[in-house]
Formats: sequence, C-alpha cells, structure tokens
Amino acid sequence: MELTRKYDYLIVGAGLFGAVFAQRAVEAGRSVLVLDRRPQIGGNVYTRDVEGIHVHQYGAHIFHTNDRRVWDYVSRFADFNRFTNSPVANYRGEIYSLPFNMYTFNKMWGVVTPEQARAEIDRQKSDCGIGEPRNLEEQAITLVGRDIYEKLVKGYTEKQWGRPCTELPAFIIRRLPVRYTYDNNYFNALFQGIPMGGYTKMVRAMLEGADVLTDTDYLTDKDYFDARSSHVIYTGAIDEYFGYTLGNLEYRSVRFETELLDQENYQGNAAVNYTDRETPWTRIIEHKWFQFGLDDEGKTIPKTVISREFSQEWKPGDEPYYPLNDERNNRLYCEYRKLAESEPDITFGGRLGEYKYYDMDQVIAAALDLADRMIGA
Ligand code: FAD
Repeated sequence: MELTRKYDYLIVGAGLFGAVFAQRAVEAGRSVLVLDRRPQIGGNVYTRDVEGIHVHQYGAHIFHTNDRRVWDYVSRFADFNRFTNSPVANYRGEIYSLPFNMYTFNKMWGVVTPEQARAEIDRQKSDCGIGEPRNLEEQAITLVGRDIYEKLVKGYTEKQWGRPCTELPAFIIRRLPVRYTYDNNYFNALFQGIPMGGYTKMVRAMLEGADVLTDTDYLTDKDYFDARSSHVIYTGAIDEYFGYTLGNLEYRSVRFETELLDQENYQGNAAVNYTDRETPWTRIIEHKWFQFGLDDEGKTIPKTVISREFSQEWKPGDEPYYPLNDERNNRLYCEYRKLAESEPDITFGGRLGEYKYYDMDQVIAAALDLADRMIGA
C-alpha cells in the first residue's frame, strides 16, 4: 500500500501495548499508523470466533488487576463479565482445587479447619528436615509439604520447564499461593473478568481513529516506514530489531492443539491442569467457559472448543512466549538496551521490546505511562 502522508507515530505491533499507545495518541489529536505482521490485530490477546465461542488463540487470557486506573481505562472499551479464574488440577483422575486452599487440603487430608491444615503442612515440613532449600523440590516441600508437592507441583513444573525439579533453582517458586480459606479464586485481584465479545473486539475499539495495516512487517520495509513517521513505537523483539547482532534472547514456548468438538461440555471448567508427569500436556482450556458457555446473545452454545497446551523448548523461529529472564539473557538484554538508547527516533515497549513478562494490566499501565510522558496526559 502506498502511504501518502507522514504520521506523528508509527506503532509496530497491534498488541495491547501498541493499541493503548495508539489510542492515547489519537485521543490527543496525533496521527497514528499501526502495523502488525500478523493477519489480525490484538497480538497475543487475539480471540478468534468459532461457533459463537471466543477462542484465545495464543493461550488463555484472564484479565485481573488491582490498578483502578487500568480497570477504568479498559472499561471504556469493553464490558467485562464476572469470570473468576478457578482452575482445577487433575492428578491421575483425582480432582483438586487451585490455588492451594481449604478445599484442596480437605480433599488431600480430610482436614476441615485452617488450624488443622496448618498443622498438617507444618508436620510434613518438619518430617522432611530440609535446611536451606537447594533446589525447587526442596523449596516446594518446605512451603507446602510432600503430598501437595508430589501430586500438584512436581509433574506440572517438570513439564513446564522440561527439567527435574531437583535441577531447577529454588527461586522459581519463592512463594506458592497457599490460602487458609475456602476460596478457589486464583487471583488476588480487586478487578477481574473477560471482555464480553472477546479481546479482539476490545482492541478494535482502542484502535479506532488509527490507520492499521496487518500482514505488514515493519522490518522488511523499515526505511520506507521510517520516512513516513516522526517517531516509532516498537513492540516487536528488541534482538530482532538489531538483526540479532549480539545474539538471540531466549524464551520458553508453548504449543497449542485446538479442536472443535461436537459436544456441549468437555471438562466442565475453563482450565484443567494435568499435574502428573505422564500426561504430555500441561493443561486443557475449554474456551466457552470464559463466557459461561453462552454466546454474545446469551444463548447456550451446543459445541465446544478445547486447546491442549504443551510447554516446550524455544528455538529461533518459534513463537516467543515467556522470556527466560536468567542471568545470561538479562545481561544480553542490557546490551541491546544500550544500542536502543542510541536511537532517538524509536521507543521500545511491551513484552518483546522490553524482554519482560508483563501481565495485561502491567503492559497497559506501561503504555499509559509512556503516553503520558511522551504526549501528555
Ligand atoms: P504482543 O501481544 O506480543 O504484541 C506484539 C505485536 O507486535 C504482535 O502482534 C506481533 O505480531 C507484532 N510484531 C512484532 N514484530 C513486528 C514487526 N517487525 N512488524 C510488525 N509487527 C510486529 N496476562 C494476563 O494479564 N492474564 C493472563 O491470563 C495471561 N495469560 C497469558 C498466557 C500466555 C500463554 C502468555 C504468553 C501471556 C499471557 N499473558 C497474560 C500476558 C499477555 O499476553 C501480555 O501482557 C500482552 O499480550 C503483551 O502485549 P504486547 O503488546 O506487549 O505484546
């Protein structure tokens, strides 16, 4: 497409960071062009509609925040439903509540009161006689006792990281959420829900007033796009921007196998974690339950869509999901940051641009802050 004007901002990436910054810039009267190399907007929160179900194509996304400013902001672009994240764990056919709470302890040990649950965890901690935890296994046993570790932590964590818990550092699970209440709500968040109509609809509303080009890779035509904008906001991978000259930043990746099933209810919950070591997937998402099994008109949906998630090693070319913020990668990122600081007409942001795991509310807050600094509130 021939671009005939010069834009105040060229935004690379139509994910949440790009969309929020674009929205603030348009609202402030700036001209904005948003590019995304994918065929659609939304970045990793993109939802695809199948039989009236909003399918979370790049993994389940549950919006949760304690930040009133972010909640008020997103509520301008979507009505949020009252979905509460209450995953369950399936250990070889035994079902447990997550996060670890009184329902979990009752099922595991038959205890009824918080005092009994605490006493059982303390007993298991002292039985294992671990001093300063030297690895993830020892850390988890110290925090929740051996039974919960064996059934609900070990297999899941080993599948996630592709290594035995005895070879994983303790810091990965410095804290495990343990609640002495009967409460299956996974997140400690004041505000939580899923945008009605799906995330794509919300992002589309944010992008109103901006010009948007999908299927368009900024890096393949960088000079052309740079000449048509005053400033670039870049939310792609920082190492890719610099042609990987200093080396690759590493990630942990996920593979999804998604199926449309001709049945109304597959597993009775949005998320079921498989915590044994033998089942190859880490969890199954049944997307319709993010909207209570109803379509946007409130009608029951006769079919269902499920996604099995397989955690896997990342190799160059795979979809980058979770930054591996270990020492090597953090050092490399700092080197790329130094290169970035020498480019005055471009600002890096978002999970790939800043090589940082951001929850949605955090990435929105970061984009709002940047817009406040660059454009004014
Ligand atoms: P992205 O959404 O990745 O957007 C970047 C965009 O830039 C992409 O669309 C990409 O195609 C585009 N791009 C890159 N390079 C170029 C280029 N050269 N040219 C053009 N376009 C380019 N957060 C929560 O709060 N709750 C959850 O439940 C939750 N679940 C998650 C589950 C998974 C599996 C993952 C990986 C993350 C989850 N998150 C969750 C985090 C959430 O996905 C991120 O906070 C958010 O998507 C980050 O937005 P972003 O704009 O930074 O990045």
